[in-house]
Amino acid sequence: MTITEQPGSTESSLANMDALVYDAPRVMTMHRIPVPVCGPRDVLVRVAYSGICGSELSGYLGQSSIRRPPLVFGHEVSGYIEAVGSDVDPVGACAIGTAVTVNPLVSCGDCAYCVTGRQQLCAKRLLLGASLPGCNAEFVRVPASAVLAVPVGLDIADASMVEPAAFAMRAVELSGVKPTSSALVIGAGAIGLFLLQVLGEWGVKTRYVAEKNPARLKMATDLGCIPVDPADSSVSAVLRGDTGGEGVDVAFDAVGSGSTRRECLMSLTVGGTLVLVGLHSDETELPLNTVVRSEIKITGAFAYSVANFRNGLDWLASGRLGLRSGVVVAPLSSGADWYQRLVDGDPAAKVLLRPGGVS
Ligand SMILES: [Zn+2]
Ligand SMILES: [Zn+2]
Repeated sequence: MTITEQPGSTESSLANMDALVYDAPRVMTMHRIPVPVCGPRDVLVRVAYSGICGSELSGYLGQSSIRRPPLVFGHEVSGYIEAVGSDVDPVGACAIGTAVTVNPLVSCGDCAYCVTGRQQLCAKRLLLGASLPGCNAEFVRVPASAVLAVPVGLDIADASMVEPAAFAMRAVELSGVKPTSSALVIGAGAIGLFLLQVLGEWGVKTRYVAEKNPARLKMATDLGCIPVDPADSSVSAVLRGDTGGEGVDVAFDAVGSGSTRRECLMSLTVGGTLVLVGLHSDETELPLNTVVRSEIKITGAFAYSVANFRNGLDWLASGRLGLRSGVVVAPLSSGADWYQRLVDGDPAAKVLLRPGGVS
């Protein structure tokens, strides 16, 4: 298939590309599909790294209402500007060849949420790899307004991890945590690990972490956090024992199952705050009389604002955030295998897929 060039576009005459396509539950296959064509306000990014997000695993299993086959997954991306649409000035972050990362949550820019810096709540928001074709491919098309240049000194692989870092920044922002607070994070995947790092940057000294996977728990303890092995006994029982019965001020659930939400809640001190981040289960039971009697505050934390995303990039570039271990780089062609391995409990904190293979 030949791609028709846009009038006035600097679109190169690319034809087809490799893409990892979600064809059916648990079925992902490499296909040759047409390279996307830029609309007037779009840019085409040549993908360098595409991270697999924990939030995509339910989609891979066919349990996500927002990911329907056939679909190219992937929303955590870094790469290089390949082409721009006719209305886009090829300067700054949009200059051809610029190393960029992409805010994958595309919002309308006009609604009450967008104009007050809460773009993640925009009713018209679209997400790469869900409502838009994603970055598990050689190229991805995104609005020009979504790209940010990778700062000098930040590795292009690390630049693909802004999205989970920004998510963690939003969750901590909502928690009201103070340097004197104590905190618990359940789940030490990429978002959990970034949560622990952001808490540390906010000055929180006492950071507990609970994680079933020993390798991930080790990554968290390497950050100076206090490990709680959920296999030993209930997390809340351990926390209460460790805090003289008091519990912690803030608890983040980065898993989203019934038991992790409950354990977070039961680990809180009177007047504490529960921040729900994980989306594993839609409906779960919680002891709400405890919420009432202890005046517990509960908030959801969803994605990130544009400001969170920019700050996440800055904090990665300055070295305040970053995964120092647990990152696997794999060829895009092995992506199907990696989605399955992560579902099966592989301890990798982040798998970065690389179109064209790993050099
Ligand atoms: Zn993600
Ligand atoms: Zn909006």
